Amino acid sequence: MELNLKEKVVIVSGGSKGIGEGISRCLADEGAIPVMAGRSSEEGAQLIKEFKSKGQEAHFITAELASKETCQLIMEETLQKYGRLDGLVNNAGINDSIGLEAGNPDDFVESLDRNLYHYYYLAHYALPALKKSEGSIVNISSKTALTGQGGTSGYAASKGAQLALTREWAVELLKYNINVNAVIPAEVMTPLYEKWLSTFNDPEQKVKEITKNIPLGQRMTTKEEIAAMTTYLLSRQAAHITGQFLHVDGGYVHLDRSLAGKEK
Ligand code: NAP
Repeated sequence: MELNLKEKVVIVSGGSKGIGEGISRCLADEGAIPVMAGRSSEEGAQLIKEFKSKGQEAHFITAELASKETCQLIMEETLQKYGRLDGLVNNAGINDSIGLEAGNPDDFVESLDRNLYHYYYLAHYALPALKKSEGSIVNISSKTALTGQGGTSGYAASKGAQLALTREWAVELLKYNINVNAVIPAEVMTPLYEKWLSTFNDPEQKVKEITKNIPLGQRMTTKEEIAAMTTYLLSRQAAHITGQFLHVDGGYVHLDRSLAGKEK
């Protein structure tokens, strides 16, 4: 299938690590130009070097996304360098364990800063350019929006709001031929996930407990599988898909739990 992504410019927030890195790599492999916005310039420089060595174009912008001014600058720098924008992947986030019982109101608001507001900021500043290109937005949410996790109110609220905004923006942007979709991962091994696992006494045992409940293949989803869906949604092949929540999770959220964990 020809995705027609050659030379398309796509901003990927948190695009140099974990799922975001997978998305940036997949886009570059399709000939698109990922513009990665994230905290670590070292990490970004390393990836850019690797992309360039393969003859792929990519750009990294050092950014703390909680700042709306920074989100505006990301857009300005992208347009200055490439003169266009075809897609936005809102991906950066952190499962920061701000719970109801253990958290407090100030921490809750800060969690929204880290996880939610920059999805709106980036989409807002990207909109004029996306109108010109009739581009796409993909929001990376999480199963926690639908299943809950416990002890992570700020993150879960942000992930749920991202789904609401996906539908809201899909409707608002119909008139510009901009499609907006969400990808919902469940269990993907990334640096964020490894950090969370390390909070358990026996991380290996915890992984076994989790994967035995993942219906398809009793394994975690790979970041490449999340990236493949996201890249497809950014392509012209997906131009008539909008307002959808795509679960790339081996059936984790929807399939009958009694089927999970059964011997093959
Ligand atoms: P990750 O391994 O921590 O990678 C996220 C990247 O985004 C990191 O480079 C991180 O920078 C950056 N980032 C986060 N917040 C930022 C901010 N405010 N400003 C600038 N950079 C920021 O995380 P991941 O597991 O790939 O998660 C990516 C997305 O998938 C998140 O939205 C997450 O909610 C979602 N998700 C993941 C899973 C999973 O199983 N992994 C499941 C469901 C949903 P630092 O390294 O400096 O923090």
